[in-house]
Amino acid sequence: MNDNQATDFIRQIVADDVASKRNGGEVVTRFPPEPNGYLHIGHAKSICINFGVATENGGSTFLRFDDTNPARESEEYVEAIKRDVKWLGYDWGDRLTHASDYFEQLYAAAEALIESGNAYVDSLSAEEIREYRGTLTTVGKDSPYRSRSAEESLDLFRRMRAGEFADGEHVLRARIEMASPNMNLRDPTIYRIRHVPHQRTGDQWCIYPMYDFTHGLSDAFEGVTHSLCTLEFEDHRPLYEWFLERVPSKHEPKQYEFSRLNLAYAMTSKRQLNQLVEEDIVSGWDDPRLATLAGMRRRGYPAAAIRDFCRRVGVTKKENTIEMALLENSIREILGHEAPRRMAVMRPLKVVLTNYPEDKVERMIAVNHPNRPELGGREIAFSRDLYIEQDDFMEEAPRKFFRLKPGGEVRLRFGYIIRCDEVVKDQQGNVIELRCSYDPDTRSGTGTSDKKVKGTIHWVSAAHAVSAEVRLYDRMFLDAKPAAAEDIHDIINPQSLETVNARLEASLADSVPEQRWQFERLGYFCADAVDHSDERLVFNRIVTLRDSWAKLEKAALSAD
Ligand code: ATP
Ligand code: MG
Repeated sequence: MNDNQATDFIRQIVADDVASKRNGGEVVTRFPPEPNGYLHIGHAKSICINFGVATENGGSTFLRFDDTNPARESEEYVEAIKRDVKWLGYDWGDRLTHASDYFEQLYAAAEALIESGNAYVDSLSAEEIREYRGTLTTVGKDSPYRSRSAEESLDLFRRMRAGEFADGEHVLRARIEMASPNMNLRDPTIYRIRHVPHQRTGDQWCIYPMYDFTHGLSDAFEGVTHSLCTLEFEDHRPLYEWFLERVPSKHEPKQYEFSRLNLAYAMTSKRQLNQLVEEDIVSGWDDPRLATLAGMRRRGYPAAAIRDFCRRVGVTKKENTIEMALLENSIREILGHEAPRRMAVMRPLKVVLTNYPEDKVERMIAVNHPNRPELGGREIAFSRDLYIEQDDFMEEAPRKFFRLKPGGEVRLRFGYIIRCDEVVKDQQGNVIELRCSYDPDTRSGTGTSDKKVKGTIHWVSAAHAVSAEVRLYDRMFLDAKPAAAEDIHDIINPQSLETVNARLEASLADSVPEQRWQFERLGYFCADAVDHSDERLVFNRIVTLRDSWAKLEKAALSAD
């Protein structure tokens, strides 16, 4: 990659490093999730950057699980994360690692730090350590144990490992500077005692290394060259460098920070996502209303759309909130090209063509894609009894309503022009059926009449259509920044899921799970990965055809 192609500041740095042969011109990155939840759209940005930058430079990327906090982590999450990264289109090859793979090496590095005078065992309580640490405006003060000899610290550290002490009795700390203006450098804890079994190492350890120490050293062990992370780690960079100066490393890893992705109306806090799952407010981490990768996959978002979205969002240091409309545009663009067209009616209204023979069935030819003749066409049954969409009929319609109204005419897509002659109602006054007549000369494509009407609507043949459960999703939260809500319950959109019993053209009965279609005039839909089967057709609405979010978001986001 040369300078001209560098599209953001990180790619520029990497291009310069490759050109100047820093680290021999090699590029090695890593994506380091903690397995304490599923990945979300924010992680997708990080994955795209880390894997993208490496791939573009002939380098490689580690998928490294940062599993140093056994109390919150599980193998279920590890497997889910692997599935999601793979689905997003990235391949870590044989570079799948865990921080816990390095527990022995990390321990050895910690002993070396003690021996070189760079670390000591502190025996203050957690509360005292907090007090001694000072605040942003006051300096910290030295622990009385700070002057402990290397021999004594080493002895205590070994006994910590051997399990001689209870949780919290001692910790191992880096000896840096209690007066540093950067709180992270005030003798940070490197190891703590936790008598908790680990999902991978079992009962082997009762001391666990802390994030900053583990992370920097794992980068060193793996030969990472560019450690790309989000801005909240900027203040940790001096500590990252402090550790790396003190351990031997194949490459010289450097840390660079970019801004987190915040997506309007999307929840990107693992803690709150976990709460939604725990309290059964959603059906699981893969609930199609969530911006988790598993949720978006189940909803039917193509992985390519998420990658395209991340590319459009770009990589900067500026904090901002991206509109959902941008993601939906990427989805529409890809599905507009990929998804074959079908007809389906969400809220059926019966139409009887009174002048059409009762037992006659015609086969109408429908194209599968308006701009892609190579996708061919199909036959759709046309008969006397049809269903149209309830809201394609209005009894008292305004002048500009070009769909069906009493006495009005409309074209049935791929079919005939019909006229509404009579409206049938039930006792409550609800419209339950329209009695219409068709004009035999107006058959689509072959008709001899040159009659023109302004509106075209979709339909299905009542006798031939299949029933399906269709899940229509709306935004999960009423607030554009759900993570800021004091109580998540207050901002749940009670209308975020509506299930309708729809009628679909018969060919849709052959859909397989995860297959995507455009239902004409309605949007893009996907056969549900979990619930859809030959016996029970279940579809998710991926996105509507038009951009229904844009206005809403502009208003919400300009309010702050
Ligand atoms: P937590 O640390 O609170 O559990 P996290 O979202 O930071 O949550 P990690 O598993 O630590 O989760 O994240 C893995 C990587 O993904 C980190 O390098 C982090 O910087 C990056 N990441 C997380 N959230 C976002 C986001 N919204 N935008 C971009 N990158 C993100
Ligand atoms: Mg994190």
